[in-house]
Amino acid sequence: MKIHDISLSLDKNTVIYPGNPVMIVESYKSIPKDPTNLSKITFGSHTGTHIDAPKHAFSDMAGIDGVSLEKCVGKCRVLDMLDVKEKMEIRDFERCGIESGERILVKTKNSERGFGKFHDDSVYLDGDAADYLADKGIILFGIDSLSIKKRGDEDARPHTSLLKNGIVIFEGLDLSKVEPGEYEFIGLALKFTDLDGAPARAILISKD
Ligand SMILES: [Zn+2]
Repeated sequence: MKIHDISLSLDKNTVIYPGNPVMIVESYKSIPKDPTNLSKITFGSHTGTHIDAPKHAFSDMAGIDGVSLEKCVGKCRVLDMLDVKEKMEIRDFERCGIESGERILVKTKNSERGFGKFHDDSVYLDGDAADYLADKGIILFGIDSLSIKKRGDEDARPHTSLLKNGIVIFEGLDLSKVEPGEYEFIGLALKFTDLDGAPARAILISKD
């Protein structure tokens, strides 16, 4: 069994989506002045690898503590989207044979470029494709970028179509070191009460 950590590291250098709070880590208590080391952390709810709760797009829907744990653990497929130039469209998913109940992660050229800084031209999910995935009945969708939608785009369906259909969204996955294929997925966020999202630790498990 091999565990692949697909989470971004969290520190003051973590890439932050434009307009989101910067991450601050401060010493609150420290040895030898204090008996233990303890830190104070300030960060946005969509920092690093994170889950978008339905509440991110719909004020009256579930927060992060209402996201199904069953959906966040189990078989998943990492799709090869490395040749997609701008956005993932219906035809990109049609060739993959998406089935109901699948957890889908997409490995795009975003992973190859890395997460050292924010890029405005990240590969994103097209609105029609979001509708298509919702119709197919997938239960989880994860992307190797800080947002599944194009920044500033009026088409909100990449968030709304997935979230209103109970599809868990993971953003900020680092898939640079994993090959497309089948894995066991575990991705769990901190249990903040009724919050719109939260950082998560995500891993893939393969048999070799
Ligand atoms: Zn988000």
